[in-house]
Amino acid sequence: MQFRSTRSKLPLVSYKDAVLNCLPADGGLYVPDQAADFRQFLLQMDEKTSFNELIAAAAPLLLESGLDSVSASRVAKNAFNFKPELIELDEGFSLLNLYNGPTGVFKDFSIAFMSAMFEEFIKEGGKRSRTKAPLLVLAAAKPDTGVSMAHAFGGKEGISLVLLYPSGQLRGLDPSAFAQNGGNIIPIQVRGTFDDCQRLVIEAINDRDFSVPYNVTSANTMNPGRLLPQIFYYFYAFIQLKNRLTGDLIFSVPSGNFGNLTAGLYAWKFGMPVNGFISAMNANNANNAIGSCIYGEPFIPKPLVHTNSPALDVSMPVNYERLASFYDEAPAVMRNMVYPASIDDPLTLETMEYIYKKYSAYIDPHTAVAVAAARKIADERKWSGNTYTVVLATGHPARSPNMAEEATGKAIKVPGSLKKLWKKCEPIALIPPVLDAFESAIASCF
Ligand SMILES: *Cc1c(COP(=O)(O)O)cnc(C)c1O
Repeated sequence: MQFRSTRSKLPLVSYKDAVLNCLPADGGLYVPDQAADFRQFLLQMDEKTSFNELIAAAAPLLLESGLDSVSASRVAKNAFNFKPELIELDEGFSLLNLYNGPTGVFKDFSIAFMSAMFEEFIKEGGKRSRTKAPLLVLAAAKPDTGVSMAHAFGGKEGISLVLLYPSGQLRGLDPSAFAQNGGNIIPIQVRGTFDDCQRLVIEAINDRDFSVPYNVTSANTMNPGRLLPQIFYYFYAFIQLKNRLTGDLIFSVPSGNFGNLTAGLYAWKFGMPVNGFISAMNANNANNAIGSCIYGEPFIPKPLVHTNSPALDVSMPVNYERLASFYDEAPAVMRNMVYPASIDDPLTLETMEYIYKKYSAYIDPHTAVAVAAARKIADERKWSGNTYTVVLATGHPARSPNMAEEATGKAIKVPGSLKKLWKKCEPIALIPPVLDAFESAIASCF
């Protein structure tokens, strides 16, 4: 599979180049140039196929030209000691639980795969000349993704991970894994916002005097290597269900930066038969701008509004250009493929309560937004009883124990592995939001 920039047709790059030099020079984002064809593969797999078998067979197809099939299978094996879980709550309604990874969010899947893939690339002989580091991975981090990345990259030989946090957000990391203690994690705190962190990562990648000698890439979703592994769990849900489907198949996806939704669209483009995606957003926030845009209006980001599903509070989604590239290709098809819906905070809580009362299951607020959105769209469109809906459960319900209790009236048990994630810690450096300071802080670790 070759990749092109969202902004120009040429030149195409290989999978390996696209993930190791993750930003095209024209300021766009990498997207697959042609669709990989997984149809034969999906025909052969069924509900007896385990997630690991699926990955071992699908990864070589995805990484084609990036890695040979032996290495690709090794990536698959090293990446996952957890798996998605399809829980059928009712006839035609399942949750795809994606929160069984080490930090309780679906992002564990793509981050684990990506770190195993980088490790394999390094074993193969590194990226370019080995001047400073075999591979320096930069990431703008929020508390959850930071922990997930530190978990996946910690101790990986030849890789250093720089986590760039906005003020006051460091928590859940293990200081013994930090560079000053002999580890490979470099947490840096910026006197600024998450947007400053994202901007600094992009500026550092584009500063070739820095990024070439340090072999810099990013672990944020701007990297297509973060995005594409997410198609695996859509495939997994599909093969679990395919012999039972009697009508349409719909996925409902809580959408913040639209990585998960975009990955679903790739799964479809790569041959997975699916009838639609519900793009579930929370209310009043700028995400709705995407909803209007899907219906043909220009995309004008709105100011951010904070809600009780914070991972969906995004005003300018990172994957906007990737999503837009689907619409540029086939706008009419897309209008019948993606259904945006917006759910407010009170309905989010009510939905958590509804699911608990009806099925004795806890769901987290992001998942609740997707459940409510699915019910709303099915209602509006009068979808028939044989439509099968899979809701992506993106977060562990015990990550927001107070809301779980408020919604259900019963306290939820918080696993020890999640409790650890709340412990505050100190960065290696505290810097102003300027590139020089960022680069010097990194250089001081080598
Ligand atoms: C990140 C996140 C989302 C949003 O996913 P995107 O791919 O950014 O749209 C949804 N739910 C949870 C729990 C998350 O952590």
